[in-house]
Amino acid sequence: MSTYQGHCACGAVTYGFDDEPSFVANCHCTDCKRASGGEMATFALISASDFTVKGETRSFHYPKNPETCAGNGLDRVFCVVCGSRVYTDNLADFPGGVFVQEGSLDGLDQWFPPQAEIFTWSRQPWMPALPIPQYDHGVTAATDG
Ligand SMILES: [Zn+2]
Ligand SMILES: [Zn+2]
Repeated sequence: MSTYQGHCACGAVTYGFDDEPSFVANCHCTDCKRASGGEMATFALISASDFTVKGETRSFHYPKNPETCAGNGLDRVFCVVCGSRVYTDNLADFPGGVFVQEGSLDGLDQWFPPQAEIFTWSRQPWMPALPIPQYDHGVTAATDG
């Protein structure tokens, strides 16, 4: 049994991990808007070696896009039965990591609070900023200058 567990809407896909995420962000990019249907998505960076998933998934590749968190490319993974977006892998910018969508965690008390908000250039004007670091684009882009 993993310490932290999650599942899609129908339960056909389940996953787990033991270690706390190394990074958690609210992403306001246009890809996250379209994939989630909401103004933003909250994701947690987990080590791929700590991440186990069961059930049939399919993924959709987002090509390189510096204006969204796709960055140099990634795959968003979803359940083939219910279509819930569950996690993101094959991250060109974070090799060896996966982004877990926090909305798929089993318990509301398992959510990790975001440490930063990213791609705020595409935040809707009615969405207030949290009192945490804000990045116009990605964190790596911001720290690389
Ligand atoms: Zn499902
Ligand atoms: Zn995003």
